[in-house]
Amino acid sequence: MNPLLETANVFRTFQIGTGFLKPKRPLHAVNGVSLRLTKGEVLGLVGESGCGKSTLARMLLGLLPPSSGDILIGGESITALDRRATARRVQPIFQDPYSSLNPRKSIGEIIQLPLKVHRVGDPSAWPGKVREMMDMVGLPSRYVGNFPSQLSGGQRQRVAIARALIMRPEVVICDEPTSALDVSVQSQILNLLLDLQRELGLTYLLISHNLAVVEHMAHRVAVMYLGRIVEEAETDQLFRDPQHPYTRALLASVLTPEPGLGVPDAHLGATFPNPIDPPPGCTFHPRCPQAMPACRTIAPKPLATATGHVECHLYDTELRRAS
Ligand code: SF4
Repeated sequence: MNPLLETANVFRTFQIGTGFLKPKRPLHAVNGVSLRLTKGEVLGLVGESGCGKSTLARMLLGLLPPSSGDILIGGESITALDRRATARRVQPIFQDPYSSLNPRKSIGEIIQLPLKVHRVGDPSAWPGKVREMMDMVGLPSRYVGNFPSQLSGGQRQRVAIARALIMRPEVVICDEPTSALDVSVQSQILNLLLDLQRELGLTYLLISHNLAVVEHMAHRVAVMYLGRIVEEAETDQLFRDPQHPYTRALLASVLTPEPGLGVPDAHLGATFPNPIDPPPGCTFHPRCPQAMPACRTIAPKPLATATGHVECHLYDTELRRAS
């Protein structure tokens, strides 16, 4: 099936200052990522803070151009679309419903805003669309004139979801959609997102630190480490038989029940490396319990697995035979 959203060998590099009078150095936040999302699919994207997930999300939203490579929506390059055209097709739902809603606007105004900005349809029909959307996300229409400060965290995230979906985007980037919420309402919001995805045939990129959330929602999972997708597989396969040592460490870690704490202790020994100064060879080698001599000098290439790919020398029979 043709992908709805595709990244083709996408790179994003930032020039970072490292000190007074010192030359800037490149930071390769996204380092050759190729992903495909088909219509109606939920792709989970996991990895520690600083691995490049948010930079990738910003590029998919058209907020940041790739340094090289291409991003295609329905076969069209995102660079050929203006910001508004991209926003009509790809919408975000962010982590923090407290800061992503304008406190001075009423709930009705907030949900209606995308229709106004993009001048979609007849303005006299907008209030009806807002009420329909509120109903769809489980917000009583009596809240239409209320302000964000009068709602609970879960209700605010419902407002953010209604605002993201009112234009009926094809792709939704869900960036840690529940990690700022109380545990008691997290599952309600996740189930709402799943119901809407099925009902409206939406395609989600679900970015989350929480592997339990990803296992519950995603059809496929991509594991990101220092700007690369080091493993990608169907969800069942990845959780049943993880191939990459980093994926195994993530799955073995004790998942935190606390929202917003991320991947807690992945039992990896050495800390996450400085992305400005990544280790040579396999960038995971200083933390990898199965590192071999070749891992220190040779970067692994993507190798096909049963349902996706892995980047690890353990599965490179040619390299292992030669060493
Ligand atoms: Fe570990 Fe080597 Fe595989 Fe990298 S390539 S994950 S260091 S075994």
